[in-house]
Amino acid sequence: MSEEKFALPRDFAKNVFNDEVMKDRLPSDVYKELRKTIDNGEDLNEKIARAVAHAMKAWAMERGATHFSHWFQPMTGITAEKHDSFLKPEGKGGIIMRFSGKELIKGESDASSFPSGGLRATFEARGYTAWDCTSPAFLKEDTAGVTLCIPTAFCSYTGEALDEKTPLLRSMEAISKQATRIARLFGDEDVTGVSCSVGPEQEYFLIDREDYLKREDLLFTGRTLFGAMPPKTQELDDHYYGNIPERIELFMKELNEECWKLGIYAKTQHNEVAPAQHEMAPVFTTANIATDHNQLVMETMKKVAKRHGLECLLHEKPFAGVNGSGKHNNWSIVTDTGKNMLDPGKTPHENVQFMLVLAAIIKAVDENAVLLRLSASNPGNEHRLGADEAPPAIISIFLGDQLEDLVEQIIETGEATSSKQGRKLDIGVHSLPNLFLDATDRNRTSPFAFTGNKFEFRMVASSMSIAGVNTVLNTIVASVFRDMADKLEKAEDFNQAVHDLIIDTLTEHRRIIFNGNGYSEEWVKEAARRGLPNTKSMVEAIPSLIDDHTIEVFAKEKVLNRTELESRAEIQYEKYTKTINIEAKTMIDMVRRLFIPAVIKYQTVLAKAINEMESTGLELECSMQKDLLKKVSSLLAAASNQADEMENMIIDAKKLPEGKEQAEAFNTKVAPAMTELRESIDSLEVIVGRDYWPVPTYSDILFEV
Ligand code: ADP
Ligand code: MG
Repeated sequence: MSEEKFALPRDFAKNVFNDEVMKDRLPSDVYKELRKTIDNGEDLNEKIARAVAHAMKAWAMERGATHFSHWFQPMTGITAEKHDSFLKPEGKGGIIMRFSGKELIKGESDASSFPSGGLRATFEARGYTAWDCTSPAFLKEDTAGVTLCIPTAFCSYTGEALDEKTPLLRSMEAISKQATRIARLFGDEDVTGVSCSVGPEQEYFLIDREDYLKREDLLFTGRTLFGAMPPKTQELDDHYYGNIPERIELFMKELNEECWKLGIYAKTQHNEVAPAQHEMAPVFTTANIATDHNQLVMETMKKVAKRHGLECLLHEKPFAGVNGSGKHNNWSIVTDTGKNMLDPGKTPHENVQFMLVLAAIIKAVDENAVLLRLSASNPGNEHRLGADEAPPAIISIFLGDQLEDLVEQIIETGEATSSKQGRKLDIGVHSLPNLFLDATDRNRTSPFAFTGNKFEFRMVASSMSIAGVNTVLNTIVASVFRDMADKLEKAEDFNQAVHDLIIDTLTEHRRIIFNGNGYSEEWVKEAARRGLPNTKSMVEAIPSLIDDHTIEVFAKEKVLNRTELESRAEIQYEKYTKTINIEAKTMIDMVRRLFIPAVIKYQTVLAKAINEMESTGLELECSMQKDLLKKVSSLLAAASNQADEMENMIIDAKKLPEGKEQAEAFNTKVAPAMTELRESIDSLEVIVGRDYWPVPTYSDILFEV
């Protein structure tokens, strides 16, 4: 690779085999055939694959690549890759560099070490990766070398999805089909497909790597399992959008350059609410590419941080009592004629379509609230959802004053007067005034907010893939679109039918609309009155993956079949159990091997001091030392007992059948025990001498970067 200084726009996407490179490098007939596959999903024949592979290999080798890799997204939430070199023996001791069409299209790998939720019987450990040509191939470069990465889908021998990508692609097809029907019903005959646009805002923490390496909990679990609150955290609001320190700025500069080389539209960066917390947002793009890019962003953040002596924490709640990290998934649906179906639009005609689309989304979210909540959940997010920094675990929709008002008027009277313009908005009649949307009103406490021309799903866990949430969004909305299109296509009087459908849908699902403060206690009560689910833990939300409604919707839209859904539920239980198990065991280990010895040292010093003071014969006042020693001793004894008890709880939990029962035991028994153990140790931290404490504290970690 050249040592030339990075420059924009010249070097943007320089590591991507994108459309421009394909056009330039492929014979024009090959290029055209490939485009047909990318744009319309037509089958790719082997001759074309061979030509593409050849061009890819030449391009990659010019940039120093020696290996290629099918890059895929198993259900671990992170990406996987297996590298193969282009090397092939030519028969007389020498080699040639080869990359065949077959190697491009299909890979075979032993999949038995990836989570499958029982899908893959042990005798059939083979998994297949298949080229996803809708997401461009790219080069990964680091000091170890350059690798050509081929984005792929990952499935079992029998064709069941074993990854995050396959259902996402299927769901994109589903929504494309159904949204196209809706667009056409409104006279947009040119529309042949619809794609979803996604822009994920990524929050993260940067801390000094030295501190990180000194804490087993950060190392093993990505979060601090102990740690008392420092005297100051974020209460002065002096970090949000604050000055970015130079060290962090250098990190961001390099992160941007690495992202830009990969064709990622890294755009916005700023400090977040908590100390040491930051955010990066790219410009939105097609859902599957946005998903690939977000995985690469997370990976790149971790890699670049290390180069700067930093560690990037993507965990949802690395520090208790301090704001955690989330990912805002901005989502909209755009026709291939370039119209955003979530844009209220400029012409009256489109407003009706917009109101129908809005009604459909409201219905989809209301009917699948728990599933949506689950799609944004992982064990780390348990510490955020429902706490007063993040959306509650109750799904509701924020529409903004104007839209909510509109919805209410439509429900009450069958027509609405836009307050800002004071004109009549009569649904279903082709003489509607323009909808004026005030983009300035924002509600940061809503989990699902309409923000001008997109929905922003704010619950999503910071470290997880966005494939799942977008798969669910696309599928549930596609399903409602399908039912609506079925009805409307049969209607004798289209205008009347649309009118009725909008009113009926909004009336039935208005309970999910909430414009107030989602963090308030009143909302929890109000939501209960409205019958909205408040699913406190992801463990309680997992059954939503396999309830009759989900199975029907996902089968109808051909996104996931029953077996696939069941396997995913198993994986979720397993993931929860494993995570809590690791955390609890790490705690026990830290208590026994770090905190107990450290505190004993301190106790010894105190005891010696008391002895020595008393031995002076001066009758010195040492009740304070004695009290302190008593307090320390009783807290330490408590911690030690709690650790022992927790160990037994883990043993008992493990005796239960794997899956649901184990996860429930870890959720209702082990997790609360962890909180108690933590309290004892944190109480010790604030009274034991600073020099005796064996790990860097919150003050050390959060305020020294
Ligand atoms: P915020 O005020 O929430 O920061 P921004 O306008 O900065 O909102 O957008 C945040 C994210 O939403 C960015 O990634 C942006 O590209 C994305 N975004 C903007 N418009 C759309 C859209 N129509 N569809 C999907 N994502 C979008
Ligand atoms: Mg936002």
